[in-house]
Amino acid sequence: MTETRDTVILGSGCAGLTAAIYTARAGLKPLVLEGHEPGGQLSITTLVENFPGWPEGIQGPELIENMKKQAARFGAEFKLGHLNRVQLVSHPFKLYTSLGEVHTRTLIVASGASARWLGLPNEQALIGFGVSSCATCDGFFFRGKEIAVVGGGDSAMEEALFLTRFATRVTVLHRRETFRASRIMLERAIAHPNIVLRTNTVVEDVLGVEEKEVKALKLRDVVTGAHSTLEVSGLFLGIGHLPNAKMFHSQLDLDEEGYILTRNNVFTLRKGELVHGVYACGDVQDRRYRQAITAAGTGCMAALEAEKFLEEHGR
Ligand code: NAP
Repeated sequence: MTETRDTVILGSGCAGLTAAIYTARAGLKPLVLEGHEPGGQLSITTLVENFPGWPEGIQGPELIENMKKQAARFGAEFKLGHLNRVQLVSHPFKLYTSLGEVHTRTLIVASGASARWLGLPNEQALIGFGVSSCATCDGFFFRGKEIAVVGGGDSAMEEALFLTRFATRVTVLHRRETFRASRIMLERAIAHPNIVLRTNTVVEDVLGVEEKEVKALKLRDVVTGAHSTLEVSGLFLGIGHLPNAKMFHSQLDLDEEGYILTRNNVFTLRKGELVHGVYACGDVQDRRYRQAITAAGTGCMAALEAEKFLEEHGR
């Protein structure tokens, strides 16, 4: 017979690991399904300067590793697997995962968000051959080369700044005149001698499929309509993320962009009614703040609610 767990946590980013620390410390022995991108977005970032408690900042992967150790110390169990389908209508909930069927009394969804792609004709063919969405993973391969970063938010600025360690020139291409990035990040990018900011510019395609490596970008100025070619060896995307919530379609209410809709931060809904025992936290439900500390905060809330639910409904 399939064992029924008290708590299963989907995702091992900042939200999932915080939920794991709290539920494990409460003796619930949570099972953490790590998903496609273990460690979440922090595990592919560099220096995190705004997580309280680290006056000099801390590397994202180190922060994640520390949280994981902390959760494991209290008895959280980690498994590499992903969710294919769920049944949240009857209790206990049924999860159909790559590791088999799992039953659970409470579910904490912390499946985060994944990098968004531009959808250019040649983009997918050149992923791994110069097109990337992870500067920290792939920046090393661009030593001494010229590259471009697309986006106008903090991710794009962070990627551009990081990539100056390797590339001789980083051109940031942004589709509008004004940037979404925070002032401090934007000012750092503007001040950097090897970063060029190019606004009102969209990428129409990436060239180099025949050579199997990025050679150039086809650009369009959205104000004048003029086309141009920018010779680069790499294209990095920093255009935001899409929530990993497709598998909850029809089981939980999602908003028009696919984020899980929540009430009072972490309570999930189906047709506007609360789904008792299922909580969502972190970037899969947060389209407003999307910070490591807010993900940790909602992870904590989800864990406390799961604990309360189990106390009230018996374990
Ligand atoms: P974001 O703030 O949503 O910015 C995405 C950027 O990509 C926007 O400038 C957007 O353009 C552009 N974009 C989106 N789709 C596009 C498309 N199809 N073609 C061209 N451009 C497109 O996302 P983010 O930069 O990933 O940041 C998300 C959150 O994480 C923010 O709250 C941010 O502060 C935080 N964050 C913080 C740090 C840090 O503090 N170190 C680092 C990374 C992220 P428009 O502006 O025209 O919409």
